[in-house]
Amino acid sequence: MTTSTLSFSLTKVEESRIHEIDWENLAFGKSFSDHMFLMDYKNGEWQKGTIMPFQPIPMHPAMSAIHYGQSIFEGLKAYKTIDGKVSIFRPNMNAKRFAESAERMCMPAVPTEIFLEAIRQLVELDKNWVTDKPGFSLYIRPFLFATDEFVGIKPAETYKFMVITSPVGVYYNEPVRVKIEENYTRASKGGVGRAKAAGNYGASLYPAKQCQLQGFHQLIWTDAVEHKYIEESGTMNVMFQIGGTLITPSEDSDTILRGVTKKSVIEIAHKWGIPVEERKVSVEEIISAARNGTLEDAFGVGTAATIAQIAVIGYRDELLNLPSLETRTISNKIKSYMDAIKTGKEKDEMGWNLIV
Ligand SMILES: *Cc1c(COP(=O)(O)O)cnc(C)c1O
Repeated sequence: MTTSTLSFSLTKVEESRIHEIDWENLAFGKSFSDHMFLMDYKNGEWQKGTIMPFQPIPMHPAMSAIHYGQSIFEGLKAYKTIDGKVSIFRPNMNAKRFAESAERMCMPAVPTEIFLEAIRQLVELDKNWVTDKPGFSLYIRPFLFATDEFVGIKPAETYKFMVITSPVGVYYNEPVRVKIEENYTRASKGGVGRAKAAGNYGASLYPAKQCQLQGFHQLIWTDAVEHKYIEESGTMNVMFQIGGTLITPSEDSDTILRGVTKKSVIEIAHKWGIPVEERKVSVEEIISAARNGTLEDAFGVGTAATIAQIAVIGYRDELLNLPSLETRTISNKIKSYMDAIKTGKEKDEMGWNLIV
């Protein structure tokens, strides 16, 4: 990549809006920092990127992303370290996944160097928005969508790659209640479940709403064919602990999103000698373990919450309570360790942090 491609044009805000933020009552994803990144794709190539004040973008009513859904995104976070620096957690993994999602959706991939540099420069400029309040971070949302002004189904020829950032606090403030879903499906073999494609989330809202009406936070998705095997929990990957072993659905099917958090948890477990099994996980196995008290832990893993421990699993008419949080030593330890790496309290031995 030549340096001219990586030198973006820059327009700064005249005055920061940061004083408008109510840090005590910060809702997830509703406030946005001062600047955003925008880069157009046309005539078969990426144009010069721009960092500019956060603002609405004009939109043609025939814009193809709205009509046919060529739209993908990523989610990652920047943290304030104890020595006052800002660090971004494993952004290269998001760059790779973004390119994979783009390929599946017939969109031009954003070159890794541009993806990383856009995020780095944007976060550096808005670094005041990364607070050192415990549990807080700056959520980074890169996204790519088709912008052809054309009502006709074909891969678009023009796109916008954008990055916006949002200061966020704790995602869930209580352990979650999940329901095993045996009717609706998130992803099927040959589909787009592995891609972080916008339509996957639109499709999940109705089933999620049904379970929320029954008092749950989220669904546990099962396979589309038999609803016998566990795949994910809401928009997070899912892990279980039985007999001191971490168990998680394997990623060889294309129905499971390949999470950075899950990969990191597995790498920490390997480092600490905690056994991990990545394989098919049946609903039956998890439910019988929960019934006979051998299910030691269950938790969702994803960027928004890092580790979201599950308190209750709903299965058909049954409500299964999981052990109290204090007994969940492995997930508690891994969560604290990951938080400590991100904030520089623990040495970043695996080289996960990108210091801005
Ligand atoms: C983003 C996402 C995850 C978690 O991925 P992370 O990289 O850990 O944030 C898991 N499942 C789905 C469906 C997702 O969209």
